[in-house]
Amino acid sequence: MPKKKIYERTIEDYREQAWGDARCNWCQNQWGWNVKSSKYNEICPEFRYKRFAAYSGMGKFHIIRALLEEDFDYTDSEALVDIAFRCTSCGACEMNCLRLTEKEPLKAGEALKTRLIEKGLAPLPAHKELLTSIANYDNPWKQPRAQKAQWAKELNLKNANEEKCEILFFAGCTPAFDPFLKHDIVNSAKILKGCGVDIGIFADKEICCGSPAIRLGDRETFFSLVKRNIEEFTKAGVKEIITQCAGCYHALKYDFPEVPNIPEITFKVYHVSEYMESLLKEGKIKFTKEIPLTVTWHDPCHIGRHCGIYEEPRNILKAIPGIKLVEMERIKDQGWCCGAGGGVRAAYPDLAFKCAEERIEEAKETGAEALVTCCPYCEQNLADPLKAQGESMKLYDLTDLMLQAM
Ligand code: SF4
Ligand code: SF4
Repeated sequence: MPKKKIYERTIEDYREQAWGDARCNWCQNQWGWNVKSSKYNEICPEFRYKRFAAYSGMGKFHIIRALLEEDFDYTDSEALVDIAFRCTSCGACEMNCLRLTEKEPLKAGEALKTRLIEKGLAPLPAHKELLTSIANYDNPWKQPRAQKAQWAKELNLKNANEEKCEILFFAGCTPAFDPFLKHDIVNSAKILKGCGVDIGIFADKEICCGSPAIRLGDRETFFSLVKRNIEEFTKAGVKEIITQCAGCYHALKYDFPEVPNIPEITFKVYHVSEYMESLLKEGKIKFTKEIPLTVTWHDPCHIGRHCGIYEEPRNILKAIPGIKLVEMERIKDQGWCCGAGGGVRAAYPDLAFKCAEERIEEAKETGAEALVTCCPYCEQNLADPLKAQGESMKLYDLTDLMLQAM
């Protein structure tokens, strides 16, 4: 039998994995040789602040096993929904578990979210707001569609709705609507255009990639957005998509192909950091100005752990004259999540804040003057504790520093 796509699977498909759970706890801790201190040895944000095994990758397997064997029912514990939705979808559990056992606690946990929706126990009120907004406005932030092109008003970019567009810059809902984050995509568009990359945008017709929906387990909404997006890409003749949002990138590149019965995918997807690293190698990006600054890099989970982009942004930073890159204890596939993903920032803002606060502390301990990342959602979440602390450390998007140096 052909292997089922991820979004065809139900919790029943994880029965064997759930029974075979090794109870080794690698889903809660840093992988052995990466541990540098007891302070930063943990990896699962959900478990870190709850300290019950149920709130971990292992816990998801135990719960799924018990539900499948009818040891308890969906309505027997009020904590069930809480356990499923405190997960930031960071993928740390799965990264470590797969090293040992070929088990997928995150994918199983996301299938559990879908089952809870089917049972009428989810979405949580905060998540319902996001999903209703997607249904009404094609974005999760209740913003009028017409506003989506505002960020690009002065950039004179090609309109993919009106002419053939082989290279699409997919802005993403969060940076397009949040004035605090707009600079990320403005920078990228300026850099790409300046290097002669002929990008176009869907402007006010760009619709949500569906990442928030699938991370919340709402497959129906996600499947519909995937089909609509692919149809639009095909119509415009898109061959390459460049995006800045780590969530959009993960969805477009890895989640789209996992949806059953979709139109053929004929485009390649790139994160701005990988696209721009290629431009740097080709000599199309040149850094001519020095930036004397010690920085540390925060790996966004959805480009890093989920998609393997670790070196590209680091190589860009190292190529900027004057920049000194110092590393935190938890990096790359053992990186610490900023806490925003999986709908956690919306439904559990305290948890999202604590994760970000911990990341800031870890960053400061490197001696860096600035924290750099390249995901608008991480940037938004990491900015909260920094604002509360009176901007005790600088926070940049990768493209801020690139543009300064060019
Ligand atoms: S989920 Fe994986 S890593 Fe966690 S206890 Fe089970 S087997 Fe070990
Ligand atoms: S995806 Fe992240 S937050 Fe969710 S259970 Fe795994 S390690 Fe914990």
